[in-house]
Amino acid sequence: MSDIRVLSVASEVYPIVKTGGLADVAGALPAALTAHGIATRTLLPGYPEVLKALPAASELLHWGDFFGGPVRLLAASPDGLDLFAIDAPHLFARPGNPYLGPDGRDWPDNGVRFAALSRMAAEIGFGIVPSFVPDIVHAHDWQAGLAPAFLHYDHRRRPGTVMTIHNMAYQGKFPYEMLASIGLPPESFNIHGVEYWGAVSYLKAGLQFSDRITAVSPTYAREIQSDEGGMGLGGLLRERSNVLSGILNGIDISVWNPESDSRIAYRYSEQDLPFRAANKAALQRQLGLDPAPDALLLGVISRLSWQKGLDILLHAVPAILGEDMQLALLGSGDAELQDRYQAAARAHAGRIAVVIGYDEDLAHLIQAGADALVVPSRFEPCGLTQLCALRYGAVPIVSRVGGLDDTVVDAGEGSAATGFKFGPVTPDHLATALRRASLAFHDKPVWRKLQQNGMTTDVSWRNRAGQYAALYRDIVASRRA
Ligand code: ADP
Repeated sequence: MSDIRVLSVASEVYPIVKTGGLADVAGALPAALTAHGIATRTLLPGYPEVLKALPAASELLHWGDFFGGPVRLLAASPDGLDLFAIDAPHLFARPGNPYLGPDGRDWPDNGVRFAALSRMAAEIGFGIVPSFVPDIVHAHDWQAGLAPAFLHYDHRRRPGTVMTIHNMAYQGKFPYEMLASIGLPPESFNIHGVEYWGAVSYLKAGLQFSDRITAVSPTYAREIQSDEGGMGLGGLLRERSNVLSGILNGIDISVWNPESDSRIAYRYSEQDLPFRAANKAALQRQLGLDPAPDALLLGVISRLSWQKGLDILLHAVPAILGEDMQLALLGSGDAELQDRYQAAARAHAGRIAVVIGYDEDLAHLIQAGADALVVPSRFEPCGLTQLCALRYGAVPIVSRVGGLDDTVVDAGEGSAATGFKFGPVTPDHLATALRRASLAFHDKPVWRKLQQNGMTTDVSWRNRAGQYAALYRDIVASRRA
């Protein structure tokens, strides 16, 4: 029996539309919450992919003018996801990346598009859908950040609010002149409101006005309270530290399961790890790497951005070549990094393979076939790829930041070790971690123990969803008191 209703508000939801970990979380958390008595519906923009995924949607309302054009609110439940979608063609009928136009730049009206997402969330919060009046509106990242502000600046009875930070680096800042057109009152434009250095910050709005704030790992929740980690909002987060907590992300262990994964060459479990070698051979073959079973094959699956520290990994190429390692990288993003990786692959064919793009099948094969997964992030709110790596027996080699620090146990830290950590995030420290991994790799029992520890680590949503459920209950109880 579900006793609490939550409206989750997100700009992307796996498997319908995804650019990063936010989609994974928004897609997997609701099902895990059901077991804890929480009924979730997720509100997302009606991009073309979304409307295509909802052919049997029912129309809940229709307004002639919503931020400059007509809107319909649709409801449907594809693949067990209970969704509300905002069908507003003037805002969302644009194919491809949800945030970027064909020139690779932000859509100029992103401020309006995501104000609309938040406004609809607030209206649902106030009860415009009588069959689903939420107890909690849960906003994810800046795209949903205005929802708590709209709920705050209104006199109607409002539900409780939670703001989850998936990444402080994206804050949604827009010119002051937009204030009236997005429907915020003039008094909201002050230091205790949505104002941020003369502009409107959607993330700040969410952090300022939500009842509770969560970050996606305990360490990141601490890091963002510093001036550096807070990226300009550290002071506000320190002020609100009594309502801020960290809840680790999980992964969908039915999508990421090496025993049943149809995207890999050979299925296996921690009991029969030697079968993993068939995936390594398949990966080497597919990417044109030398067929070397004894070379330590490093995998990377990542956006190519400054955050992810992959420029630092390029500096470690001599260490990779010197230690008889191989590298398989799948990623896309920063054009210069793409070029530099492609050049490295050309210069060291057979040892370094680079696939530029987004490819879920290959991501699964890398997790199943690489010996280790490298995540050298400069900062990492939680990180999901290292969780998948643990589950697949790819030993994570990670920087000691954020959720990476919370989810990997270093080989020097006793019998529960699952991987290798390094810090500070410099080429030298990364190279040292790679050498430590190389030594361990050639000591088969040591390596197998790391893999088995990782594969038996709980990376699922079950317990973590319980922490969100407890948070929701707490908010509901304190609002009733
Ligand atoms: P972020 O959200 O910062 O990009 P996360 O590690 O939290 O990083 O989540 C990234 C998600 O996107 C993971 O599920 C990962 O497997 C996936 N991913 C990233 N890049 C690619 C790619 N090039 N191809 C396939 N999947 C990718």
